[in-house]
Amino acid sequence: MGLLSEGTPLQWSEVSKYVDHVREHGIIQLLHTLEKYKNRQNDPFLWGDEVEYIVVNLSDGKATLGLRQNDILGKLMLISDSENVNFHPEYGRYMIESTPLKPFDASWDSLVDLETNMRHRRQIASRYMTPTEHLVTMSSYPLLGVGHFAETEGTVKGPVTQSEFMPDDVINLHPRFPTLSSNIRERRGKKVEITVPVFHDVNTPQPWVDPLLKDRPVGVSSQEIYMDAMGFGMGCCCLQLTFQGASIDGARDLYDALAPLTPLFLALSAGSPVFRGVVADQDVRWNVISQSVDDRTDDEKKTIPKSRYDSIDCYISRKNEILNQNTDFYNDIPVLTNDKVTEQLREGGLENDPLLVQHFSHYFIRDPLVIFEELLDQDDKNSMDHFENIQTTNWQTMRFKPPPNASIGWRTEFRPCEIQFTDFENAAFCVVVVLLARTIVANKLCFYQPISQIDENMKQAHVRDPVHRAKFWVRLSVQDQDKDSKPVFKQLTLNDIFNGNDEYIGLLPLVRDYLKSPHSEPLPEKVSNKVNQYLDLLSKRASGELDTAATWIRKFINSHPDYKHDSIVTEKINFDLVTAINKIGSGEGWNTIAQSMFRGF
Ligand code: GLU
Ligand code: MG
Repeated sequence: MGLLSEGTPLQWSEVSKYVDHVREHGIIQLLHTLEKYKNRQNDPFLWGDEVEYIVVNLSDGKATLGLRQNDILGKLMLISDSENVNFHPEYGRYMIESTPLKPFDASWDSLVDLETNMRHRRQIASRYMTPTEHLVTMSSYPLLGVGHFAETEGTVKGPVTQSEFMPDDVINLHPRFPTLSSNIRERRGKKVEITVPVFHDVNTPQPWVDPLLKDRPVGVSSQEIYMDAMGFGMGCCCLQLTFQGASIDGARDLYDALAPLTPLFLALSAGSPVFRGVVADQDVRWNVISQSVDDRTDDEKKTIPKSRYDSIDCYISRKNEILNQNTDFYNDIPVLTNDKVTEQLREGGLENDPLLVQHFSHYFIRDPLVIFEELLDQDDKNSMDHFENIQTTNWQTMRFKPPPNASIGWRTEFRPCEIQFTDFENAAFCVVVVLLARTIVANKLCFYQPISQIDENMKQAHVRDPVHRAKFWVRLSVQDQDKDSKPVFKQLTLNDIFNGNDEYIGLLPLVRDYLKSPHSEPLPEKVSNKVNQYLDLLSKRASGELDTAATWIRKFINSHPDYKHDSIVTEKINFDLVTAINKIGSGEGWNTIAQSMFRGF
């Protein structure tokens, strides 16, 4: 998550003096990078995933988050390159992130190698756990912020977050992370306020009385679960994918092509039905993170519609005719920009590229949140530090990434998915997105829809049980290349969208057709068997034949003898749930424990 520079981080009162300096030099750095790499062509199609884990201690019937991040990562960083694994820190001190060391390529074998590599990463990292520690992949830890939820004697109301639930020492010890948290709080002038609707079960009091909350803050309703620290959001885990485009335009086209898919994949990967020990009336983590890093002041909220962590605001392709002839129709929401930055970009050579100017200028309405004193003055020709400072704290559903150096090209990141319990599922989600990206490029498919529809779809992705209860806008004619024809948009279920219906071809049938079309290298049987399993898994999750992780967690809680049907997840329920998810993730009896998620696999 972002840039880990060494040095002395400035507190907000100091940072605020340098925000324009960082913006100005960030753009100078970007312009140098554009100059250097704008003509790169024919970069190979490469891709890679990021998996986020939590470390949980399971012993004596108690589950607590383990905080040995530094020890564990210190060892993992020494793993030989030949293992093709890489580990990184994440926001929570109980989190670890992994990626393949080398990216995957366009070969068919890559589609199988991914799962093998994911399993390898899990096995390697698991070697450095104590006998009671376990590496678990679940997107929101149910008891985060409840009682003695982590291996710490630290107390709440610490100076960094001032949270009444979460001690500061569950935050990664690298100074970037506590500083990010306290500077967000100081910039907005008060603690972050995160609310999600509570799920009303048969015995949930009406109005609901939050057992952990002494005084309900002004503005928080009795229907809401309230949280007050960045960790409630950035302590959640996701699955991300990055693609290298053939050129800057290739990466921009892919950014636009995948953006409409983000709410759909968020909803299908849903795995977060519990926050701060309370069952929520939503299944995904997204708006929790969005609120957890929202540094806008109350006044700014009146004019800046979105948090820094949110769905994208504008498409960016320069070459797509459908977009370019109907830009206002598709880029249909107000996009705030920074006038100075717009000017700087235009004067710096982008006067004929309004969509790219808008995109970056829009990121640069935000202030830098963490500045290291020693890094204030940089060699702008060779550093991207100031640019990355702002770029990597605009956490949107997609990210367009300039080359960091000559050996890496222009890239596009797909960021919505929730992490799944098993490497099989994580690989399935990744491979389907990779194949969709390939199908879109090969068949020049068009998913463009107004950005306001994607925003509406993001809301739908937050409906509880989105498979059965939500509908999402889609462009019906994805094969439509006729820029003059009038596209038709319709709200469909995830089943219709993934599996297709009379009116809509369906995402998975598109991929299946692509796989059947002639390719220079025929698909080996081992690859087609694996890929068919992945497609079947997503197809059955979308149709409701198999449960999403969130639905399965709800069922587990609902049938637990300790559950009083009052929306409260007890320590015992949490222990049993996390123990089960740990078993599922490590492959022990996975399809017997969670039949409703895996039947037939
Ligand atoms: N953990 C965050 C999430 O669940 C993402 C952090 C990152 O960008 O790596 O979306
Ligand atoms: Mg991460």
